Parts: sequence; structure tokens; C-alpha cells
Amino acid sequence: MTETRREPHTIHLEDYIPVVGTPEIQELHALAALLKGRTVQMVNSTSVGGGVAEILSRLVPLLKELGINIRWDVITGGNDFFEITKAFHNALHGAPFDKSPDCFDIFLDYNEQNRVRLQTDSEFTVIHDPQPVALINGRSNRAGHWIWRCHIDLSQPNPKVWNFLEPYVLRYDGALFSSPDFTHQLPIPQYLFYPSIDPLSEKNRELEPEFIRGVLDRFEIDRKRPILTQISRFDRLKDPVGVVEAYKIVKRYFDCQLVLAGGGAADDPEGGKVLDEVREVSAGDPDIFILDLPPWSALEINALQRASTIVIQKSLREGFGLTVTEALWKRKPVVASAVGGIPIQVIHKQTGMLVHSVEGTAYQLRYLLSNPSFASRLGQLGHKHVREQLLITSALRNYMTLFMHSIRQG
Ligand code: UDP
Repeated sequence: MTETRREPHTIHLEDYIPVVGTPEIQELHALAALLKGRTVQMVNSTSVGGGVAEILSRLVPLLKELGINIRWDVITGGNDFFEITKAFHNALHGAPFDKSPDCFDIFLDYNEQNRVRLQTDSEFTVIHDPQPVALINGRSNRAGHWIWRCHIDLSQPNPKVWNFLEPYVLRYDGALFSSPDFTHQLPIPQYLFYPSIDPLSEKNRELEPEFIRGVLDRFEIDRKRPILTQISRFDRLKDPVGVVEAYKIVKRYFDCQLVLAGGGAADDPEGGKVLDEVREVSAGDPDIFILDLPPWSALEINALQRASTIVIQKSLREGFGLTVTEALWKRKPVVASAVGGIPIQVIHKQTGMLVHSVEGTAYQLRYLLSNPSFASRLGQLGHKHVREQLLITSALRNYMTLFMHSIRQG
């Protein structure tokens, strides 16, 4: 295998010119000149695993390169904290919530510990998702600009959890959502922009065919037969068991393979249990590859996505679904559930196929396997869609514009 691991910090803004063009990069420099030396802090709950960490790991170094004095902090907590925040996450997506009432105190205790540990005196503080929301307690005299960046679909939250979180959210200067459909009626300003992927990161950059072949060989995946892939944390909301069920239907008609690849996220304690469930339903089928990958597997994930015949994302609920963005960027036909931010990315029959059930997933997989030229056209249009709307250069512009806007608002 000849592919080498390049450290992300060796990628510079100018390297994006061949992808997005010179004017877009010039525009970023012009905006950055207005913000030079300003202090920004991003706070979330995990440095690896999941979409937020994926975005921040690229956004932060590029904003730094643009001259913004940015830091990224990750809150810490015990297993009890992350079990609670995971239950919050599911409840905000509409699931029932059955934790005991003292969970709210435990949540606040951990937020308080982090408030004491972290310095939060930047001019712009962006708090990602509910886990660190109560850090707003550390704001003194309405100093600085505080934005709550919500990556979750908040359209129908479980009131038990939302009623607890809302008073904290309302103390922010604004809330930032990924889609108009995710927003919630709030008396503070709401902003909207899509998450993004970095086309030059290890996860998304072009790879040598030899490297891709090497990865398939390493995992003993057959290069000659179709490969259906879902990349996701092992999380019930990603429905890996439903993916296996859909594959089993397809397998009656096509001699294909299924790859379920994912790892854990530090803030998701449920992964092990879900992995066991997936192994159980897949037992005995040598064409199902369940790959529990370590956090440093970006190149391997990239290779698996590129080697796939079709990429699946059969989530039951979803934030934005960056794995879909990644697959579309790689010109892959995608079969994905019409939940969360996925319909923004997958325009049915144009940039992919939207589904609502196991049977629907199996049906669309069979359709695409039988119609490879249609499948390839979906992939081409998907790539174009991502280039126009979902690349990191758009996110850089959006964040800087938001900071400028906040300054104007005083
Ligand atoms: N991911 C990863 N390793 C894994 C599973 C996922 O690096 O084992 C990445 C995946 O490529 C994507 C992100 O984590 O960049 C997942 O983001 P998404 O929005 O799809 O889902 P989330 O995990 O945030 O719910």
C-alpha cells in the first residue's frame, strides 16, 4: 500500500483552489481580515467519533490559518454523564425518556465541573449540542457572543428533556441549526447553515486504487462482487440491524457483500451493546463484514466508501448525516432514510434514493444493482450537489459571517 498518512495541518487554504476556485478562497481571506486576532472558542463533548468532532477537527485549523485566534475544548464527564446525555440526545430526537429525576442534577454537576476547568472568556463562544449547554453559567455580565450550535433535529423534542434544557438555550445570543426543519420556536435569533465535509482530509481525499485494493484485501472483502456499505457508529438510531435485514432480502437476488463499519465515540456508551446485536443477527454469513474500527481509521473509511458499489444510511433518526455527504462526494449511489438532514442531501432519484423501511431499502438496493448506469448518474449529481453546498469552505464563510453579524449586533 503506497498511501501515506498526511497530517491535516499540512493542508493549507490555497490547496482548496483546485476544488472550489480562486474567488471563493479570496473571499475567505477578505472576511478573515475583518476578524484577524479575534478570539473564538468551540466546545463539544468528544474529540473523536461522530460528525461534530469530524467537522471541528478540520474547521479549527483552517480558521487558525485565517488568522483567527481559535481554540477547541472538549468537556469531560464520567460514564453516568454520557449515559444521561445519550438519553437526552435520543429524547431530543423524540424518543421516550425514563431516567430518574436526579439525572438533571448529575448533568449540571458535570457542566459545573467543566465550567470551573475551562476558560470561557473568548469573544465568540460556540457551544455544540446539549452536552455542554450549561457552560453558559460561566458567562459573566453578558460578555462576549455566545452561540448554541445544535446539530440535532429539534423539531419534536421530548418535553421532559427540552423543558429542562430550554432555559439554558434562551440565555445564548443565538441558536444555529443545520436545517429549517430542525428548528424550534425560540425567542432568540436563529441561524441556519449546513454542516460540511473537508474534500482534502484523509476521510475524503482521492486515494490510489492500489491503496483501496489493499484495504479490501486486509479485511478479506471480495473485490469482484458488489459491496454494500454503511459507515456509522454502532448506534440503534443508525439501525444497523435494519441494514442487515435489508441486505438479507437483496442477497436472495444478488451475490453481494455487506460492510458495516464504525467505531465508538467517547460520548456514546451504548456502542458495545449495539455491536453485539449486529453480530448476533449477522452470525453465520461470511459475506457480512462487521468492522469495529479505531478512531484513526479515516483512510480506511475513505477506502471502504470508495470501494462500495452502493452506500447505505438507514438511520431511524439523524442529525445531518455526514456519512451521506462523504459518500456523495465520492460519487457513490446512496440509499438512505428520509430523516434528519438526509433529504437535503439525497434528492430522490436525482442524487440518491430515499427510503422509509427495510423493504424499501432492499427494493432500492436491488433496483440500483440492476441499473448501474442510473446508479452512476446519481453519484455524479451527488458529487456536484456537495461541491456546491456542503464543503468546508462554505462552513468557514458561514462562521465568519456569523461572527461579523454578531459584532454588528453588539
Ligand atoms: N465516522 C468515523 N468512524 C466511525 C464511524 C463514523 O470516522 O467509526 C465518521 C463518519 O465518517 C462521519 C462521522 O463520523 O464523518 C459521522 O457523522 P454523521 O453526521 O454521519 O453521524 P453522527 O455520528 O454524528 O451521528
